[in-house]
Amino acid sequence: MRDAEWPEFLPGWVWLAGAGPGDPSLITLQVLNALQQADFIVYDALIDPRILDWAREDAEVEYAGKRGGKPSPNQRDISLRLIELARAGRKVLRLKGGDPFVFGRGGEEAQSLVRAGIPIRILPGISAGIGGLAYAGIPLTHRDINQAVTFLTGHDRHGLTPSAVNWQAIAKGSQVIIMYMAMKHLGEICARLIQGGRDGGEPVAVVSNASLPNMQVLETTLGQADQDVRQHNIQPPAIIAVGEIVKMRQCLDWLGQMAGEEVRHLDPLGSRDHEHEREDSA
Ligand code: SAH
Repeated sequence: MRDAEWPEFLPGWVWLAGAGPGDPSLITLQVLNALQQADFIVYDALIDPRILDWAREDAEVEYAGKRGGKPSPNQRDISLRLIELARAGRKVLRLKGGDPFVFGRGGEEAQSLVRAGIPIRILPGISAGIGGLAYAGIPLTHRDINQAVTFLTGHDRHGLTPSAVNWQAIAKGSQVIIMYMAMKHLGEICARLIQGGRDGGEPVAVVSNASLPNMQVLETTLGQADQDVRQHNIQPPAIIAVGEIVKMRQCLDWLGQMAGEEVRHLDPLGSRDHEHEREDSA
């Protein structure tokens, strides 16, 4: 791409960017371009500090988790801060984990900015539920298993199991369920899915700190997940995958294979041989 084609960061703008699931090298080139121009960066808890090494040396950096002695600013405080910075003529980069528009309140922040008349640009990122699971060797779709994926949050705005979720419908209708922020209420969530008709023996993977050096992957089942998570002391942030798709890890755990582990199963789904198929229906 020619230099002139990169977006120029103008004063008074807020760029709302996703920094990917963890590993700094998973940011996009657009985010790198933003880091090289922003003069004020407001970042979230799950941002790896190494990402900030790419920022301008004179850029000011502010953590949105805690500020001015307040324990935890609410969303309104953060939005007001972004508006204030933009009005002061700063080039404000708002860095969020994963993708800003996936369970990250990026939509709310963007809306506040637009309402305040602040010009914005959105820089998408790799969401933990996609890229993080790729690091665990779990593809989100497989033609032999699922034609749909459900992304779900285990937390509503009151910190409870989402009451707006129709668990019965999800249990019945979605072959693969990917859950964010579901560690706290995992036992209750699994129970609701089983009540909704899912088999307690269905495979589940819990992937914590995905893509980072301290990544951990727990393979368990719907019936055992909560107990196993406590027993193995798996800590958030974790992304949880429910469905037969999890078995693919037995073949595709590429990080394990790089570390010398054997492939457990070359055909964990007992799939048809796809190799000689025509690719026109991919
Ligand atoms: N916007 C983010 C999600 C923010 S919600 C995205 O698109 O990824 C925060 C939740 O994301 C965490 O509770 C966890 O479920 C998930 N998450 C974020 N980073 C993660 C990581 N490195 N490993 C596992 N899960 C992660």
